[in-house]
Amino acid sequence: MKVSVIGAGVAGLAAACTLVERGAEVVLHEAAPAAGGRCRSYFDPALNCRIDNGNHLLLSGNHAVMGFLNRIGAHDSLSGPVEPVFAFVDLKTKAHWKLRLNRGRLPWWVVSAARRVPGTRARDYLALLKLRRAGVDDLVAPLLAGTGELYRNLLEPLAIAALNTPPDAASAAPLRAVVAETIERGGAASIPRFPKVGLSESFIDPALAWLVARGAEVRLGRRVNALVAGEKTILAVPPWVAVELLPGLVVPSEHQAILNLHFKCRIDPGETGFWGLVGGVAEWAFAKGEILSVTVSAANKYAEMDNATLAALVWADLQAAFGLGAMPEHRVVREKRATFAATPAQLKLRPATRTVDKNIMLAGDWTDTGLPATIEGAIRSGNAAALAMLEQNPL
Ligand SMILES: Cc1cc2nc3c(=O)[nH]c(=O)nc-3n(C[C@H](O)[C@H](O)[C@H](O)COP(=O)(O)OP(=O)(O)OC[C@H]3O[C@@H](n4cnc5c(N)ncnc54)[C@H](O)[C@@H]3O)c2cc1C
Repeated sequence: MKVSVIGAGVAGLAAACTLVERGAEVVLHEAAPAAGGRCRSYFDPALNCRIDNGNHLLLSGNHAVMGFLNRIGAHDSLSGPVEPVFAFVDLKTKAHWKLRLNRGRLPWWVVSAARRVPGTRARDYLALLKLRRAGVDDLVAPLLAGTGELYRNLLEPLAIAALNTPPDAASAAPLRAVVAETIERGGAASIPRFPKVGLSESFIDPALAWLVARGAEVRLGRRVNALVAGEKTILAVPPWVAVELLPGLVVPSEHQAILNLHFKCRIDPGETGFWGLVGGVAEWAFAKGEILSVTVSAANKYAEMDNATLAALVWADLQAAFGLGAMPEHRVVREKRATFAATPAQLKLRPATRTVDKNIMLAGDWTDTGLPATIEGAIRSGNAAALAMLEQNPL
């Protein structure tokens, strides 16, 4: 069986790998000159180094991610702390603290004041049980904001990072899915992971090499403008492209931006290599060799703010957190449609893998994975599309 996979983001790459592994002939089409989509690295001439389009944080419980990396031989390309530990800085008080989960399923870390969020009590964490009952129409803020310091210092930053949507508009259902697969499974499933070198070095280049070595054809810089009738196709493009290629398809249509600010500045990565920053504009900071890189999610609210103002605000946060000097060279990267907005209305627009045409399957972080728009969701969607194609058209 010959299958065209359109889009070489992680969803398309995962689909292509699953198909090739099961003996299908694959042609992978990518519009951009390089593969990777929203998960890629590139050389930035202003900073004179390679950067990622955005910091991507994974957790050890992201089993589809780990399976994909194992398959393409890149399982040792991730880095991060050895233990389930998250460092935070409160930008108002300049206090540094760490959340230290224990590895096992029984979360005894909540009864240890030294391990849990400062200013919280063990019983505050019972609020997480509310998440278990969350349906798609339950919003994050009304459900969880009553937990005071726990919400401000942990649940809100976690929700914004996972959902890329303001918590007063975001559905709690996809957050429930993330928590169920990570924190609820214990610290061993919640160890932070990120690429040692870059996103492309972990996810993209090894996948392309793996595919080419097994006979797949990879066509970069080839935008697909129309589907070929009767051709077996996995559409792994963003939703706004999918709807152009497949008119009548219902897809999420609202998006949220993510900002990444890359500063030429080397700081000690400490135990974790990254920090959650609470109470400012900057939300997460990653020490990546000569680059200190900051992420701001759910960032449509900064659409009108110019890059210079934004960089000054974020640098002031970094100064408060790490006692840094004058602002160095930097680059502001705005991913305007970073992910679909995880609101109840948008979640209800996510399509299933199968379409009305048995020859066309859908993949992408915006399809109905139950997860937020993440690498884990994208890879699962790609695997699911490949398996659905194989089931529909046995080899
Ligand atoms: C700044 C930023 C930070 C993020 N942080 C995290 C994080 O911390 N953790 C996490 O898990 N996830 C994170 N994400 C989300 C993650 O990057 C995405 O979920 C994932 O990369 C989506 O992959 P995809 O394959 O579904 O889509 P895409 O990456 O969008 O891939 C679609 C591909 O289709 C191609 N294409 C489009 N039109 C055509 C056409 N007509 N013909 C051929 N090809 C076409 C595109 O060029 C693209 O390569 C982040 C995203 C961004 C932008």
